[in-house]
Amino acid sequence: MKYVTVVRDDNTSKKVEETIKSSLKITYDNDNPDYVIAIGGDGTIIKASHQYPDAIIFGIHTGHLGFYANYTLDDINVLINDINNNDFKVSNVDKISIFVNDGKEEKLFGSALNEITINTPLSAIAMDVSIDDNFFERFKGTGLCFSTPYGSTAYNKSLNGAVLDTSLNLIQMTEIAGINSNAYRTLASPLVLDGRRIIKLDKFKNINKLYITIDYETHEMNNLESISVLSNGLSTKMAYHEYEDHLNRIKRTFLK
Ligand code: NAP
Repeated sequence: MKYVTVVRDDNTSKKVEETIKSSLKITYDNDNPDYVIAIGGDGTIIKASHQYPDAIIFGIHTGHLGFYANYTLDDINVLINDINNNDFKVSNVDKISIFVNDGKEEKLFGSALNEITINTPLSAIAMDVSIDDNFFERFKGTGLCFSTPYGSTAYNKSLNGAVLDTSLNLIQMTEIAGINSNAYRTLASPLVLDGRRIIKLDKFKNINKLYITIDYETHEMNNLESISVLSNGLSTKMAYHEYEDHLNRIKRTFLK
């Protein structure tokens, strides 16, 4: 077995990396690791999962325990023993994916652990929203955010979306500054959908250029014909020693 580290640029995280590297009995390998040890915050773990999508991620939070990290600063020896003894469990965290169609072909553009947004920050975009090929609404505004249950506590929460139980396979659609008038009428509430549904966006108006964000990455896009967002079975493997109910993490982060 081989491992790599992905480390946030702060002294605590770098010290943790040194301790772990001096204690692990397996080989370090940048190119083809089986395990990724992500040391920092939820952001570090998300970046690690994008960099190494097929590896098992061991997330250590060097601040408060976040939503993806299953180890804390107090658990460093536990993590070292888990890896050296090959004695840990793995859970699959579902991702959502985005497909783009430029008029010639439809192709997978990327997958997110937290969320995918389609937006135009400096102007309002208009687009049709269809769900499972049924027209749902014509949206006008800054954009739409599609989040996973794990991502429901991230950008989605700032958009007044609901916080979701991570044991369910769901996709949540929230509006980013939607315009509601007699010309444009949208639901104007977060919509929580069965993860088997496919959301399609097309008939874009007032825009040649839009931005797609996939977690922390932003892509500028031109002249797209349609976009689809769906859960296509992709997931990230997260290692843990002891299971912790996600509701505890929600309580610890948002409630005293
Ligand atoms: P980042 O600094 O890595 O992340 C921004 C903050 O979001 C950090 O404090 C991070 O926690 C936290 N976070 C990440 N995933 C979370 C989750 N599932 N639940 C609760 N908090 C979470 O910045 P970045 O590299 O640009 O990361 C992009 C993320 O930032 C996006 O996925 C999006 O969710 C979030 N974002 C939020 C807003 C907003 O709320 N207005 C706007 C844009 C983007 P750690 O400190 O543990 O890393």
